[in-house]
Amino acid sequence: MSIGSAFLQGAQIVVIGAGAVGSVVAYRLAQTGATVTIVESRYPGAGTSGNTFAWLNAFSKEPRHYHRLNAGSIREHQDLARELDGDWVHIGGGLTWVYHDDESGTRKLRDRVRQLHQWGYRIEILTPEQAMRDLEPDLFIDPDRVEEVVYAPIEGWLNGVGLCHTAASSAVRRYGARIVRDEVAGFSTRYGIIDGVTLASGETLPADTVINAAGPTADRIAGFAGIELPITQQPGFLVVTEPAPINLKTIVHSPEIFMHGDGGWRVLLQGEGFDAMAEHNVDLNHPFPWKAVENATKIAPTLRGIKPEGTRIGVRPMPKDGLPIIGFDSEVPGLYHTVMHSGITLAATVGRLVTEDFLGAEPPELEPYRPERFGAQSTEGVQVTGE
Ligand SMILES: Cc1cc2nc3c(=O)[nH]c(=O)nc-3n(C[C@H](O)[C@H](O)[C@H](O)COP(=O)(O)OP(=O)(O)OC[C@H]3O[C@@H](n4cnc5c(N)ncnc54)[C@H](O)[C@@H]3O)c2cc1C
Repeated sequence: MSIGSAFLQGAQIVVIGAGAVGSVVAYRLAQTGATVTIVESRYPGAGTSGNTFAWLNAFSKEPRHYHRLNAGSIREHQDLARELDGDWVHIGGGLTWVYHDDESGTRKLRDRVRQLHQWGYRIEILTPEQAMRDLEPDLFIDPDRVEEVVYAPIEGWLNGVGLCHTAASSAVRRYGARIVRDEVAGFSTRYGIIDGVTLASGETLPADTVINAAGPTADRIAGFAGIELPITQQPGFLVVTEPAPINLKTIVHSPEIFMHGDGGWRVLLQGEGFDAMAEHNVDLNHPFPWKAVENATKIAPTLRGIKPEGTRIGVRPMPKDGLPIIGFDSEVPGLYHTVMHSGITLAATVGRLVTEDFLGAEPPELEPYRPERFGAQSTEGVQVTGE
């Protein structure tokens, strides 16, 4: 990609949403010389990107092209953080284990590891003793119940608000973009072609192209143009602890709990049964967050006595086939969609590829994700198989 390309010089682009996806896309487009306006109804990272588990991974991503896209984006996140002098990316590796009496879980994990090895994803198999000694001395991984610990060194997590704020504000400070705090309430059109967005405040912002990066409400934005975007909304639930005496370097997926550090020595928890809590708007008055911390003490004994400090609810934007939707809308000239689950992992690469797309390169990596793949056919909803 040639930065500062004359091709986009002066092109007016409105990006709806300053989540991970919209913020990085806006930054990269502004970098080429486009005139970028980000419209965000709340603040950068206020949506799903600030209420997510944020595991940077390609662990359970299928098919292979999607795995490759995710794995490459982990590397690009580190480059982006260096470029923006940011500290939101934490790469300490990922640890996963199951108990040996869980035959089906053991089989699935071994199949996954075999597949990942074939695809060239770095995976090491450790004993519980090695994992505790070399990586996580504050964890207890029961050697009587766990035969092997799967270690993925390239994985980590990131702080979504940090990424969104820095990418969006760098687009402004370095490349003259604008952030407008308002809600997009519709499109303005000329001869049937989108030429801007209308805001809840009544203002209209002109645009040559509008990018729909509204995350779980992207279907509402598409609806303003009279089209259906095939996504569902899948709420998720997280618990965060108070600052805790645990030096957690990796991101952990254990039978009891999933967890990683969350800054300020807090720990972010997720796991089986969590998502059902989102529907009931569970808060700290409910026993669930307390029980979640108690579960975590089974593998992290130093969390004993630690209280949950808060709960978070985020809504996954889930395209109906589980894969990203990226590209110009075939029915609505001037409208471009960037909607996906795993948008945290994917934001770095997607920001670059969308910009290459705008520069006319039609990157082959985006081919499987074009909006027109849905056509008129009916689509089946998918469940999350891995974040
Ligand atoms: C519990 C949970 C766990 C997850 N775990 C992972 C994980 O481990 N790894 C991973 O990669 N992904 C994970 N995800 C998914 C990931 O968080 C999302 O894919 C990603 O955050 C989506 O980013 P986004 O920028 O598309 O959307 P968002 O972050 O939601 O951003 C959209 C923005 O648009 C704004 N907006 C919406 N409508 C309008 C409007 N009309 N006008 C103006 N602004 C508007 C919103 O305020 C919001 O800020 C998880 C999600 C959840 C909920």
